[in-house]
Amino acid sequence: MSGERLAWIDDELARLAAADLDRHLQTHDGPQGATLAYRGRAFVNFGSNDYLGLAADPRLAAAAQAAAAGEGWGSGSSALVVGHGAAHASLERALAEFEEAEAALLFSTGYAANLGTIAALVGRGDVVFSDELNHASIVDGCRLSRAEVRIYPHGDVGTLAAELRDAYAFRRRLIVTDGIFSMDGDVAPLADLAELAERHACMLMVDEAHATGVLGARGRGACEAAGVEDRVDVRVGTLSKALGGIGGFVAGRRSLIDWLVNRARPYVFSTALPPAAAAAAEAALQIVRTEPERRTTLFDQATMLRRELASAGWDVGPSTSQIIPLVVGAAAETMRLAAALRERGFLVPPIRPPSVPEGAARLRLSLAYGHTPAMLTELLAALKELR
Ligand SMILES: *Cc1c(COP(=O)(O)O)cnc(C)c1O
Repeated sequence: MSGERLAWIDDELARLAAADLDRHLQTHDGPQGATLAYRGRAFVNFGSNDYLGLAADPRLAAAAQAAAAGEGWGSGSSALVVGHGAAHASLERALAEFEEAEAALLFSTGYAANLGTIAALVGRGDVVFSDELNHASIVDGCRLSRAEVRIYPHGDVGTLAAELRDAYAFRRRLIVTDGIFSMDGDVAPLADLAELAERHACMLMVDEAHATGVLGARGRGACEAAGVEDRVDVRVGTLSKALGGIGGFVAGRRSLIDWLVNRARPYVFSTALPPAAAAAAEAALQIVRTEPERRTTLFDQATMLRRELASAGWDVGPSTSQIIPLVVGAAAETMRLAAALRERGFLVPPIRPPSVPEGAARLRLSLAYGHTPAMLTELLAALKELR
């Protein structure tokens, strides 16, 4: 009976497949790294957000093991009830120190951090200005907040300025943007946004998910690189990308953090991370501090690869980071290219709508510290051949 009531799902799935938009899980063997094995065959991995090569670093695993042995695996409850242990508190102090912020707060994921933070900062009667290419977790946070949402064209500070001039009737105003954008690898115009936020008495929130550990002299992200950290009210980061683990965080003023502890629903109503995850993240932060060559090598290799790809005729979009799109256009052609690269031993994820706009399907290369010059040379050769 229930099968019949769900029959519409079969129709919808068939529609997705007919449009080359269906997605399927594949299970890899072994650890995440610059190479990754499927059914025993190793591929060069350009799909991971593990930009600094820390996901399988034994120092993170050792920190997690020690914490699990000492504090057990589970956290027992949400942080406010009894779930906030010594490992969480220690990581929050380390994050605040790393970010040179008054305080930091741990969430179970970056997604939860965005969702909870936006909905805690604005509500009915408020307005949030959101870049059209912001990550889905920002989009969902805006929706959850019930504030009025004004989407501005990607990076378009002129349009945003005009909108802000008309926004004084709202109780509170918030501008929210990705630091590095996930699908194009470009960086938000942070200095201009900081200036607009100041001029129009508007809160400014930046999501550093792809930039924490990667950009900036100390690896704090796009705000550090742009020299605007002091002018950004709310900085969100993730422990799940360059930091190689799991979790999200917010850094900022003490009062902001106290407010989130009281009002961010994914913080209040969701179980705290396992202490071992916090310990692993603290070990990762230490590596970010002490091994800056990971981010400088990554940056140099990304710069080289973008240049080579562009001169081979590929459209690398506006990327200035370790995320390099190869914009193809049609979903079917993108899938064909991804399959051809896979045959040649390269995992390069195809990105299709709804992750990107209709007609903007692409391959997305994520570079990592562990990619050797030989891997990049071979990838370039394959892409030249397929071009
Ligand atoms: C990945 C990502 C997130 C979510 O972070 P998770 O820790 O994976 O939940 C948030 N924002 C942006 C821009 C992201 O790319």
